[in-house]
Amino acid sequence: MSADLRGIGMTSQRTRDRLIQRLRDAGIANNHVLDVMREIPRHIFVDEALASRAYEDTALPIGFGQTISQPYIVARMTAALLDGKSPVRVLEVGTGSGYQTAVLARLVDELYTVERIAGLQELARQRLKRLNFRNIRYKHSDGSWGWDIFAPFDGIIVTAAPEEVPEELFSQLADGGRMVIPAGRSGHQQLLVFERQGTQIQQDVLDRVSFVPLVKGEV
Ligand code: SAH
Repeated sequence: MSADLRGIGMTSQRTRDRLIQRLRDAGIANNHVLDVMREIPRHIFVDEALASRAYEDTALPIGFGQTISQPYIVARMTAALLDGKSPVRVLEVGTGSGYQTAVLARLVDELYTVERIAGLQELARQRLKRLNFRNIRYKHSDGSWGWDIFAPFDGIIVTAAPEEVPEELFSQLADGGRMVIPAGRSGHQQLLVFERQGTQIQQDVLDRVSFVPLVKGEV
């Protein structure tokens, strides 16, 4: 691995290990998720000027008015998607920096990721290529429509918040599949988990959260 990916000082393995301990202390118990997050260099998913802050448990700006999600939220959502399940095919809406994409792609067989801002998705694609991922497919589109040609998905994860969960996403969820999605008006969002059993959909509420809004259309 290149020195740049390994990291030094504020991006070193020691600094990363401290973040993982912090996530564990905050209640994240899924060791698969924690192990993957220990390995993936979050500092290459942010601008070089912010690299020294990449292993703080905080969201950071990634340009275009968007943010890379807080590590705790990435861990919480990934664990919520995976606990007790082994999803093969997963859809992510909101590629953003590509960090959550990387974490997921290490834990499932096929990852499909949709992003409405072309510039962000291109940067994410370059980073993920550099990390040698081969199980990710990218689409530049409004992800409220899901990605019908690859549906149904065993898992769907959405990293921007709609006021109401788009119907198409429910319809692209496989039987037994699970969706993790923040929803609600700004200031009143909740992290929701839906699970399909046949025609029934069961809902759980996890945490109060604060995500950027899911926006219609693409740019
Ligand atoms: N998981 C990403 C989160 C980025 S923020 C990360 O940690 O880097 C949420 C992302 O969702 C932004 O990149 C935003 O452009 C994208 N987004 C918002 N509305 C969208 C939509 N309708 N379809 C696809 N992507 C959307």
